Amino acid sequence: MNIAFIGLGTMGYPMAGHLAQQGHTVTVYNRTMSKAEQWVKDNGHQLASTPQAAAEQADIVFTCVGNDNDLRAVLLGENGLIHGLKKGAVLVDHSTVSAEVSRELAILLAKKGVDFVDAPVSGGQQGAQKGQLSIMCGADTTVFTRVEPLLATYGKTITLMGDIGSGQLTKMVNQICFAGLIQALAEGINFAQKSGLNAEKALNVVSHGAASSWQMVNRYPTMLQNEYNHGFAVDWMRKDLAICLAEAAKNGAQLPVTELVNQFYADIQALGGGRWDTSSLLVRLQNPPE
Ligand code: NAP
Repeated sequence: MNIAFIGLGTMGYPMAGHLAQQGHTVTVYNRTMSKAEQWVKDNGHQLASTPQAAAEQADIVFTCVGNDNDLRAVLLGENGLIHGLKKGAVLVDHSTVSAEVSRELAILLAKKGVDFVDAPVSGGQQGAQKGQLSIMCGADTTVFTRVEPLLATYGKTITLMGDIGSGQLTKMVNQICFAGLIQALAEGINFAQKSGLNAEKALNVVSHGAASSWQMVNRYPTMLQNEYNHGFAVDWMRKDLAICLAEAAKNGAQLPVTELVNQFYADIQALGGGRWDTSSLLVRLQNPPE
């Protein structure tokens, strides 16, 4: 199969790498060309100079970029994918964006005879590298069936949630749960430190009990070391929480904790931590705003 992959960032780079090992022909595009050149050095295959050129021969095109506008830019901009995609191709989008933009772009693509799958992921850089992502999809069943074997090269759990947009709605559920959970973890660690406990010992025992979570197991050791230059950036989380809050304003869901944690992340950005991992909520508790 001819595959194109657009966006070789923290997530896209290893995901495209998994596809490259499966005997398909992979063409990559990245806005910063040096990353695409490095990817080709690491994985072989070929690079394209524009999204349009990458899409021209492709049966399936993957995107993993930033926000709604970034996705619109790679699709609809000058030399965008839409000018190269051939009839019968499928576009699979792994970016975390709004359900609304997914539906909007799917309608435009359908006019060209191109199918669309919104397929946001969870599992972070580690999940992408190990091929253990959780992938939540919105698509027509036959289109999903067509792309599922490719998603399996880097996904451990791949679920069709329903119509286009429902993958993104599911990712919102993920981010809502994530926001409250990581604040609770930061509060627990801060409390342990203030109470004079051996925080490492406390978190070790707690992480083997009912309050355990992926975040607790994977993040408490780095939080205790004040290490935040890794993982999922606060700037990205604020983008995701804005999407969740906008969707909740439409569907009437109450998100009181999510709203609060969103403000806490704004405090982290004000501390200069926009690129820090989301577990940096602990820094805010240790340096409370005036
Ligand atoms: P990243 O490392 O910042 O990479 C973003 C990629 O998108 C880069 O290749 C960037 O190109 C490209 N890009 C952004 N805006 C663009 C534009 N306007 N035109 C062309 N290319 C553009 O981000 P990431 O961590 O891989 O995340 C990608 C997506 O996955 C985001 O939607 C994020 O929310 C989601 N996600 C991330 C994680 C995580 O743990 N990192 C987990 C789950 C989901 P350049 O190299 O030129 O900047």
